[in-house]
Amino acid sequence: MSAIGFIGLGNMGFPMASRLADAGHRLIVNDRDEGAVQRFQDEHPDARTAADEGAWQEADVIITMLPNSDIVEGVLTDGGVATAAFLNTLFIDMSSSEPIRSRNLGQRLERQGMRYLDAPVSGGVRGAQNGQLAIMVGGNWHDLDQAKDIFDVLGKSVIHVGKAGTGHAAKALNNLVSAASVAATVEAIRVGERFGIDPATMTEVLNASSGRSNTSENKVRQFMLSGTFGSGFPIGLMTKDIKIATALADSLGVDAPFSHDCENIWQSALDAGHGAEDHTRMYEYLATTTPAFNDERQIHA
Ligand code: NAD
Repeated sequence: MSAIGFIGLGNMGFPMASRLADAGHRLIVNDRDEGAVQRFQDEHPDARTAADEGAWQEADVIITMLPNSDIVEGVLTDGGVATAAFLNTLFIDMSSSEPIRSRNLGQRLERQGMRYLDAPVSGGVRGAQNGQLAIMVGGNWHDLDQAKDIFDVLGKSVIHVGKAGTGHAAKALNNLVSAASVAATVEAIRVGERFGIDPATMTEVLNASSGRSNTSENKVRQFMLSGTFGSGFPIGLMTKDIKIATALADSLGVDAPFSHDCENIWQSALDAGHGAEDHTRMYEYLATTTPAFNDERQIHA
């Protein structure tokens, strides 16, 4: 049986690669953090590392789950993994990368005799652990068909979006909506609080009403009101995704003022030094950007 190469054993990649190993796939893993590779081998002793001689040549599929396009391109091209792999290897970038760069990367890999899919995911760390990710795929049907066994282990839904790059475009646009929902939900809860509505009660109202969302249902109580702020997805990565979406709008000449306002809100949190903090910390950050609570503003319900 051939093997799957997996590069990037972070918050998402580690549980995703673990599921593939647990499903019986042979894994060749790599991360610049040697501790992550060691932890993976401790849990999956059959996994090989890319440091083993000729390891990449055993993989007919190589998955990347890395922070961004710069890193994906750096790892794969210019003497990177694509040079070490066999011809016709299928590269699947499951990171949230930049769609136009992904399309170009796919063409570049094809010129080298390789194949390429972009297949970013939604569903967070929990979805990665439970195999419940949504996977949005750009590329051709034939390659998607070859990857189906892998996607079935990782996700609950696989959507073929279109040609190469469209998976990454759809992912960024999804996260733009998600980020806007976080900001709007937090602002609504803060306004309600100032009017005397308990945040938990406001969340209950949203969840029973038309304002409900993934934010209100799965983030507010769990990570914001509980004070745990531990969803596993930092402000820095969310802001990167919003900027991918707004840059795509700009490059296509689509006027998207609301999206740019959303970008500014998240960018301000990044500029204030909160990039490494969980994105659910926007609950606290947006409170600090609101003028201090004072009695004149308070309206007792
Ligand atoms: P992460 O920062 O936890 O993990 C990234 C991993 O890549 C780290 O282990 C890091 O050591 C490794 N890495 C970085 N540079 C490397 C290099 N040059 N060579 C080898 N390894 C390298 O990030 P994550 O949360 O796992 O996210 C990965 C991707 O998935 C991102 O594009 C992110 O936007 C996206 N994503 C994240 C979530 C989430 O909830 N965390 C959800 C959906 C999509």
